[in-house]
Amino acid sequence: MSIATKYRVKSGDKVDLSDWKTDDAEGVSRKEIEAKTEENTLAIAELQHKLYAEDKQSVLVVLQAMDAAGKDSTIRRVFGRVNPQGVQVTSFKRPTDEELAHDFLWRIHHHTPNRGCIGIFNRSHYEDVLVVRVNNIAPESIWSKRFDLINSFEQGLVDAGTKIIKVYLHLSKDRQREKLSDRLTNPEKNWKFEPGDLKTREKWDEYMQAYGDTISKCNTDDAPWYIVPTNRKWYRVHVVSEIVRATLEAMNPQFPEPKIDPQMANQLLEQIS
Ligand code: ATP
Ligand code: MG
Repeated sequence: MSIATKYRVKSGDKVDLSDWKTDDAEGVSRKEIEAKTEENTLAIAELQHKLYAEDKQSVLVVLQAMDAAGKDSTIRRVFGRVNPQGVQVTSFKRPTDEELAHDFLWRIHHHTPNRGCIGIFNRSHYEDVLVVRVNNIAPESIWSKRFDLINSFEQGLVDAGTKIIKVYLHLSKDRQREKLSDRLTNPEKNWKFEPGDLKTREKWDEYMQAYGDTISKCNTDDAPWYIVPTNRKWYRVHVVSEIVRATLEAMNPQFPEPKIDPQMANQLLEQIS
């Protein structure tokens, strides 16, 4: 079984996150894995180049996780080789007053990827059934209707040529303690520490429940969820690179037919002074 298939949630599965591994790298050679990751990142860049030339399809990668799981570094490592013109990264923060004055998908739709591009959502519309639910920002009567709205919204994107991959970076609560402590003690990471992260951590179990429910309800064949063991960075980055590469390979982007036939090209070549 490929790595991408291994961590993909099967259609119809009811997800309980305590059944999923946060570390699955026991006995795995870090050196070998890092070499494969390097290969994957180069392959992803090549495939994106074709995707751009083809100009027919796009990819949307949705990244969700608890704080300090490593969304930022995953993006940097997996997509660092891609032509910057071919990727569009959007980080969704607390909604602004203007965003709150609209339906929850209003701010999202605007950032979906252009044809030929890879769009990456660092947090996403899923916050509206996660943080909103756990913190009672909206009542259940509102958020419970959003699962169906999300599925139809994503289906609309799929029908328009966007392949969607949704990745939950599955960090353990113990590992999060280490990572948050590092943000408090490492001067280069201090700026990342948000006192609010501790409040979120206190509600860990509620978040796990909300994530499990959400992944179960919004996992479709065209827009599947993947649950990635996240405690070890090198393994996490590798798994995400495998998922992205496999997805792009299955999309099989092709360079378009040349605009001129080879004979005409030869004539034109002679004309170039
Ligand atoms: P890190 O994982 O490195 O901590 P981050 O994604 O948490 O990065 P921050 O700027 O620390 O980035 O936090 C963004 C905050 O915005 C998160 O707490 C998230 O829950 C919140 N947020 C995002 N979307 C919504 C939303 N629709 N409603 C309420 N809060 C939201
Ligand atoms: Mg944060």
